[in-house]
Amino acid sequence: MPTKLNRRDFIRLCAGSAAAISMSGFLAPFMAEAVAAGAPPVIWIQGASCTGCSISILNTVHPDIEKVLLEVISMCYHPNIMAAAGDLALEEGMFKTAEQYKGKFYLVVEGAIPTGADGLYCTVGEKEDGTPITFVDLIQDLGSKAAAILAFGTCSAYGGIPATPPNPTGCKSVSQVVKNVPIINIPGCPPHPDWMVGTIAHVLLYGIPELDRFGRPVMFFDGIVHDNCPRRQYFDNAIFAKNLSEPGCLLEVGCKGPIAHCDSPTRMWNSVSWCIKAGAPCIACTEPQFPGWPMYERIPEMPIGPGITTTIDQAGVVLGAAAALGIGGHLAGNVATGRIGPKKKQEEGDN
Ligand code: SF4
Ligand code: SF4
Repeated sequence: MPTKLNRRDFIRLCAGSAAAISMSGFLAPFMAEAVAAGAPPVIWIQGASCTGCSISILNTVHPDIEKVLLEVISMCYHPNIMAAAGDLALEEGMFKTAEQYKGKFYLVVEGAIPTGADGLYCTVGEKEDGTPITFVDLIQDLGSKAAAILAFGTCSAYGGIPATPPNPTGCKSVSQVVKNVPIINIPGCPPHPDWMVGTIAHVLLYGIPELDRFGRPVMFFDGIVHDNCPRRQYFDNAIFAKNLSEPGCLLEVGCKGPIAHCDSPTRMWNSVSWCIKAGAPCIACTEPQFPGWPMYERIPEMPIGPGITTTIDQAGVVLGAAAALGIGGHLAGNVATGRIGPKKKQEEGDN
């Protein structure tokens, strides 16, 4: 049996994990020990989603996801990987588990919750009388019995793409439809597998992790992308790319790194690359306002919290000293000299 991993070392591992380290592989023996000792099961359900969050976690490596979800985590229900289907899956995998482990199991929610038309835009089965079980009813029922809900992906955490206006299906986030249950938000479009595996491991081994003001685990979402960006030197030297393929800071082609919280610059994806290293601007997919802004344009005003709007220069002041000085100083100077700023109509016509 592995030596017990104390919480401080666990946090250090999660926060410092780089591309070369397989977090799930490192955590596997400790999580298997927790499951063997009777750790509560996990139920995973999907609402209005593209299934990208499941695809992301399926790409976790060493051990492969089959082992992680079926042996390391006590996963009792997952619509994409479980062998059972239909009534058997719903009754045995979901409803009986929720009753047997009432107040103890953890509920993972992927996707937003459609509430329009009494929830009929998203149904998951039928009751004995033949009436549909809507996803909004299901999440309220299971959520009220869970020890906590893990909202995986920006859609379940904050509404995301399905809740973007005009939002004809009335999609909402988990926290808008379930009350009085602890909720952990693990946003991202999709979230990194480590963010999901690491958060599940934390709740099973130590309980709910420390969260920021948007309900995100601090161990993964404390840093600002801009602060650790390999293109930061370009920003500091006021060298801005005008097209996606060019070297330079990507601010002018839409990068939202100065307001985005995640550890992708150091953790990377697939042990290889991450958004900006691949040449794309950060689209701030982990923020509550995503995708409520033009993706490939620098916008002068950005919402930074419910009811709060700021200029990007002011955002730096809110977000921390390093970013503040960089953004405030460089942007102000470069906007003033016309080196960056909103594109003029003539320039747009040229492109
Ligand atoms: S604005 Fe974007 S591309 Fe430029 S330094 Fe910041 S995070 Fe990197
Ligand atoms: S770097 Fe930006 S776009 Fe990429 S995962 Fe982080 S927040 Fe999302």
